[in-house]
Amino acid sequence: MKQKSIWMENLKTKTYPSLKNDIECDILIIGGGIAGISTAFELKDEKEVVLIDKGKIGYGVTSHTTGKLTYLQSTVYTDIENVHGFKVALNYLNSQKEAINHIKDIISKYKIDCDLSPNDSYLFTYENKENLDKQISFLKRAKVPFEETKLPINIPSISAIKVKDTYVFNPLKYINKLKDIVNKSGVKIYENTTAIDLDKTNDGYIINTKNGHIKTKKLIICTHYPFFVIPGLMPLKLSLEKSYALSASYKNQNWNAINIDKETYSIRFYQNNIIVGGYSHPLYNNLDYQKEENKLINFFNKHFNIKPQMVWQTHDLTAHDYLPMIGFLNKKDSNLLIATAFNKWGMTNGVLAGTILADLVCGKENKYENLFRLNRQPSLEKTLNFITNNFMIGKTYIGTKLSKNKPFYNQSYVTKIDGKSCGVYVDENGKKHVVSNICPHLKCSLIFNNSTKTWDCPCHGSRFDIDGNLIEGPSVFDIKIE
Ligand SMILES: Cc1cc2nc3c(=O)[nH]c(=O)nc-3n(C[C@H](O)[C@H](O)[C@H](O)COP(=O)(O)OP(=O)(O)OC[C@H]3O[C@@H](n4cnc5c(N)ncnc54)[C@H](O)[C@@H]3O)c2cc1C
Repeated sequence: MKQKSIWMENLKTKTYPSLKNDIECDILIIGGGIAGISTAFELKDEKEVVLIDKGKIGYGVTSHTTGKLTYLQSTVYTDIENVHGFKVALNYLNSQKEAINHIKDIISKYKIDCDLSPNDSYLFTYENKENLDKQISFLKRAKVPFEETKLPINIPSISAIKVKDTYVFNPLKYINKLKDIVNKSGVKIYENTTAIDLDKTNDGYIINTKNGHIKTKKLIICTHYPFFVIPGLMPLKLSLEKSYALSASYKNQNWNAINIDKETYSIRFYQNNIIVGGYSHPLYNNLDYQKEENKLINFFNKHFNIKPQMVWQTHDLTAHDYLPMIGFLNKKDSNLLIATAFNKWGMTNGVLAGTILADLVCGKENKYENLFRLNRQPSLEKTLNFITNNFMIGKTYIGTKLSKNKPFYNQSYVTKIDGKSCGVYVDENGKKHVVSNICPHLKCSLIFNNSTKTWDCPCHGSRFDIDGNLIEGPSVFDIKIE
């Protein structure tokens, strides 16, 4: 079984150079996932736009998605309605439908070959009909046509609904084409260019990268988890959810599904493959990620009786009040914008982020700017989430510290070398790979992920390979030791 997503298989991508010297620009976008590339696309006709990514454009969380473009997003509408009321939930629904139409238009106008296809979306439950009825109630009040029906596959389900006008696509093919389009229009792209920190100036920002400084008037952060510490954002408003996905050969079908139960299964098909995601949990819980991944594989084996060919893990940011965060980081600073917390629906919300951020950065109004603004009033629910989240992250932080010197798995353990906490992984040939076991981001102790063979931060999601190279932030540094 390969440890990578189906989108990465056999995909040839053009590589862009890394930054070599200091540069200046009008607008700098940091992070080339669906949010960053969509923003670059909307700004492609503006002067002096630069997009940088610490790795390859598109290879962050976006390359691990299931790639559904749907407005039937699990319990999102009732969740939003409970916190913000019906009007806001309806507004969110409209934004998602517009995002789907917008990406369809882009794909058709630029003839982007990304396997976009119409695909009915199912929402189902195997344990709680009442909860599905609540979703139905919202759809009725929002006047969304739907059909009560049966799930077209033999997995546990007691009730299901289906909507039309939803799609699936190949997210990496889309992004690859889009980056060439924006580059041809004049957006400068630098890959393998990591932003380390930022300094505010009188008329913008200076971004310090490992390869040079970038002076910009406007700065847009699309790095998924912000790479610099923003007091109060995490964990006050955001948390991280780990998810697992797999793919296997299967007869192609033109529908997708997700359920609303404790264990979530997200299903779609792609070119004679089935993709199943699920078993999400807060990043700081269930720290044996291989065990969690095996739960998904076991579920799949039980109901489909075929072996997965690929399996992958990733994590996404969720906002405690269920609405993504897109807009000015601080309303007093019109030069710094951000898009994050897509609540596992970043294909639509990333596209939407592009249109909102492009309008705001150019001084235009956008009808969704209030819906997604960052300075939303805290609610009791958010405050309680903050307390629980802080407690859990604190518990995980201390837990990982106490587990020092204990082996995590047969092939990996933590020890002290010259007084420094180190993680050791012993490979198949008996070679020891020694790294620092402390995350450079906020000094959390790293745990070994036996599936992906990576050292992972269970608090904030940074990941490193066995030789200490950074794979995923928010850390911007490696954990190599001499
Ligand atoms: C299992 C799973 C399935 C999902 N399925 C769906 C789905 O079907 N439909 C849907 O709508 N959503 C889905 N999502 C959600 C969606 O995948 C994410 O919300 C979305 O991909 C996030 O995009 P992004 O642009 O914010 O982040 P990313 O794609 O992670 O992009 C951020 C980029 O920033 C770069 N970066 C980070 N730090 C720095 C730095 N310091 N300097 C320079 N660059 C940096 C990274 O390299 C990366 O390329 C799913 C999520 C999961 C976990």
